[in-house]
Amino acid sequence: MNWITKKLSYLSEKIKTVIKKRPTKEEIENSDWFSCCKGPILKKELEQNLWVCPSCNKHHRIGCKQRFDIIFGKNNYEILKTPIPKDDPLQWKDSKSYKDRLKDARKKTGMDCGIMVVSGKINNISVTACASDFAFIGGSVGAAEGEAILTGIQHAIDNQQAFVNFTSGGGMRMFESLIALSQMTRTTLAINELKKNNLPYLVCLTDPTAGGITASFAMLGDIHFSEPGAIVAFSGARVIQATVKEELPEGFQKSEYVQETGFIDLIVQRKDLREKIGLILSILLKKNSDINSVTDETSTSIEQPTKAAS
Ligand SMILES: [Zn+2]
Repeated sequence: MNWITKKLSYLSEKIKTVIKKRPTKEEIENSDWFSCCKGPILKKELEQNLWVCPSCNKHHRIGCKQRFDIIFGKNNYEILKTPIPKDDPLQWKDSKSYKDRLKDARKKTGMDCGIMVVSGKINNISVTACASDFAFIGGSVGAAEGEAILTGIQHAIDNQQAFVNFTSGGGMRMFESLIALSQMTRTTLAINELKKNNLPYLVCLTDPTAGGITASFAMLGDIHFSEPGAIVAFSGARVIQATVKEELPEGFQKSEYVQETGFIDLIVQRKDLREKIGLILSILLKKNSDINSVTDETSTSIEQPTKAAS
């Protein structure tokens, strides 16, 4: 039996060598290649096509700077500084500590938190915009991300600008428990302030937008855009299927399906987003000024008799 043992040990060494030779996740991320339907595609080629696959039209996930470069033009916007509250308020630790997760996410994305807020112009209309990076702990929302959204909305109100939100992420960040959940209320209240100021709030749902994000600021827009094929959901499809014990319809939770159920107004190709947002903003802002002038006229006509009476 000695030859069998020798053969097995030889084979196990061979397998180990093959496994070791597989590129690491980091090596794949740093390579010049990307993978889609037809196998490898050069990242440069994909970037020229705004990170949309030329063969299958898959809108790949992009970071905040990539998003803003497409919407405003390369580096043609000002990044706003947002407050970063104390890291790891609950000193969370499971298989890895939350502090380490934050450290890795910051290194990977070059961002302090998962949301970036900027100010720029679309079709000569000044807007404040924010975007989430899914690579930052799954785009989840904690205190810092909540603060970023609030800072953006305050900036929009102070400068009487529209607010555009490019959402993505799995929901509220469990490592911050109730502190993260409270961001649903805080952002909702801030959006109400925006609306009291008659300022447009546009949401562009990108892949994937789910959980508490869908249950709060992502669904409160005046207009909801989405990119083709984006997952827009609350719970995951597998959870729903296991609960209802029924086969789910084809394309369930994809933006095209969600549009049919009325949660999305418009599905827009990435290359057309800038133009469509500009067009909608010009219509909404004109409408708002009309509303304001009507309101002013009404309030003046109400005030005048009062003054005359006194
Ligand atoms: Zn493809």
